[in-house]
Parts: sequence; structure tokens; C-alpha cells
Amino acid sequence: MSEAKLISSLNEENLFHFSKTYVPSRLLLGPGPSNAHPEVLKALSLNPIGHLDEAYIILMSEVQKLLRYTWQCNNRLTLPMSGTGSAAMEASIANFIEPGERILIAKKGYFGDRLVDMATRYKAEVSVIEKSWGEAFSYEEIKYEIETKKPAVFAIVHAETSTGVLQSLYGIGEICRKNNCLFLVDAVTSLGALELLIDEWKIDIAYSCSQKGLSCPPGLSPFTMSKRAEDKLSSRKSKVPNWYLDLSLLNKYWGSDRVYHHTAPVNMNYAIREGLRLIASEGLENIWIRHNNNANKLWSGLENLGMELHVSKEFRLPTLTTVKIPHSIDGDSFRNHLLNNHGIEIGNGLGELSGKVWRIGLMGFNSNEQNVDRLLNIFDTELKKFSILHSSTF
Ligand code: PLP
Repeated sequence: MSEAKLISSLNEENLFHFSKTYVPSRLLLGPGPSNAHPEVLKALSLNPIGHLDEAYIILMSEVQKLLRYTWQCNNRLTLPMSGTGSAAMEASIANFIEPGERILIAKKGYFGDRLVDMATRYKAEVSVIEKSWGEAFSYEEIKYEIETKKPAVFAIVHAETSTGVLQSLYGIGEICRKNNCLFLVDAVTSLGALELLIDEWKIDIAYSCSQKGLSCPPGLSPFTMSKRAEDKLSSRKSKVPNWYLDLSLLNKYWGSDRVYHHTAPVNMNYAIREGLRLIASEGLENIWIRHNNNANKLWSGLENLGMELHVSKEFRLPTLTTVKIPHSIDGDSFRNHLLNNHGIEIGNGLGELSGKVWRIGLMGFNSNEQNVDRLLNIFDTELKKFSILHSSTF
């Protein structure tokens, strides 16, 4: 044994005084993560097995089958990528854009900006169309831009978590096919919660996350790609400039060969299998109805309290509501109060909506009537207490 002294910022005394890992109990009604389903947590706590073990390979195939159902597609290459939503987001850019190729990004919030940032890093020729934070694009606007700009890829966020806007995707896939362009959709805040039909809507590339509609902890990012996208990938002239996210390499592990690429986060895959199994047993249509009903209950409850919603009804996103912070309230202090006294998390506005709205999420396991009632009751009593000098709203 070496005589070397271990370097540690922990002296012997406080090493022994560390308690077991503890986290406070929280109801997560913000933009995500959402609470994980108790059955998912049970699956997560099972002992790891080898990521090339036959039993694990069977589990991988089950995850893929369940994902195809949840995405509503028959795409061969459908898999949960290791990493949070941004990992599959980056894979969607890195694999399908070669330097100098044009990507058209329809930007209406913070996550559209992230797509632009990533595409620029991969040296795409980036064209952007923009809407103000709280609005959605019309079919005609998108059609016009695709026909005139002729991009190789058209990218849009389905559910903009920064603004609370749901973007209609009807008909866009058809325009992309006619213009020889791949249709890329960010479904981070819609998969497993809102109507999303990958095959029917002719979406070529889509990604999501585990921590919202799928009722799992963060750590995996479901991904799917059409045959058209596969063809584009296999005809690339240059190597995918990102080893970890290279879908042709990942295909060897998640496709039929099952060749090692990187050590799969096996426990997270147990968790997602369970989250997806719960989705399949409830049924997608029931899940969509549940999310819509609970969102409607929240929206009318907030309006009955005299609060104003940021997004007009036609564009409102059931999984994430942006509600204006009353003038008489300090938004951050109120959120801290909710967290520290009631164990409830809601989110601040992002980017240009910071300090102007709160973001309330009802996603996956957390989208239920009891949570809506609990939050509305607390708003009713606590907002009055917080109101400075009784503004006219309260
Ligand atoms: N896209 C949207 C619409 C999101 O809401 C998020 C995160 O909430 C992301 C992308 C990035 O996902 P992650 O934070 O899991 O990396």
C-alpha cells in the first residue's frame, strides 16, 4: 500500500457525519422534470445486468416496440438515446446536416434558439423564420418558406416549453416530401402526453425526453427516424462529426447486430420500459384526453382567480401553461414560498418571458385533477397574502 496521503476536502470527522442521501419530497409542476411514476422508480432500483446480456437485449427490443407505439410509427430505427432531450436534439442535427446544407428553423421560443445554435455549430446554412413568444406558425407561412428556401431539413418545436405554445403540424410533412426536405420535430414536451402521429404526419426525425410525458427521471431521449432519413444518413459524404451521437454506429447496437457502442445506462432503460408499459396500458387516446381535461381545468381555474394566461386558447399547450405574474406579486419570492412551504415547484419564465410569467406543467404521472385542485387552492389563499397593497386584480 502506498504511503501517499489521500487528498480530500473532507476531513475524517465530517466524513463520518454525512447522512445517507436524502432529497425533500416535491410535487414538480414546472417545465420538467416531472415526478416519476412510483412503478418506474421501482424498476429503476433493480440491480443492473450486463448491457449485452440476453435478458437485457430482450428488454431493449421491448423498449423499441413500446416506443414505436408511443411515437405511433413503424420506423425501424427507434431508440432511447443516452442523455437528456438535448442529446437526441443534437443527434438530429449532427446526423442529417452536412456542412453548407440548408436547414430552415421555425423559431418561436427558447428551444428554437437552441436548434439554431446547434445547427450553426455543425456548420449548416441556417435560415430562420420567427414568431413572437406566445404565437404559432400557420400552415401557409411554413409552406411558403419551405417552397422558397428549399432546405434539406425543416425543423420545428411541437410543444414550446418556454412559451406554452402548441404548434399544429398537420400537412407540413406533405410539403416537406414534395420539396425533398426532411421534417424534423422536437417533441420533448409532447411525447406520451399529446396527440403525435409520426407516420401519419410524415415526420422524418423526432426526439423527446424521458422526464415529462413518460413519467421517468431525466437521462434518456427517445428518438425515431423514417426510411427517408435513413437514406439521407447512409448517403452522407462526410463522417458524422460526433462519435457518441453517430446514428450509424448506434444502429449497430440498437439494430439487429447488437454490437457494443457505449455502455447503456441499463437502469434508465428499465425505467423507460416501465414508463412506456404504463402508457400502453392506459392507452394513448386516454392519455391525450387526460392531459387536455386537466389543462382545461387549470386554465379555467386560473382565470376564475382573476389571472391572465399568456397564450390565446387556439395555441395553448396542455402540458405547459404560461400564466402572467400579477403585478402586485414578486414572482421569484412566490415560487420560493411555494417550494419551501408547500413542496411544490413551478417554473419561472425563460428568456424574454423571465419575470413575466410562471410556467406550470401537468405532464405524465403529474397530470391529474388532485394536483390541479391543490395548486389552485394554494394560489387562491397564498396569492392574496402575497399581493402588495391589494392590486385591482385580487
Ligand atoms: N426541447 C424542448 C421543447 C424542451 O422543453 C427541452 C427541455 O425541457 C429540451 C428541448 C431539452 O431537453 P433536456 O433539458 O432534457 O436536455
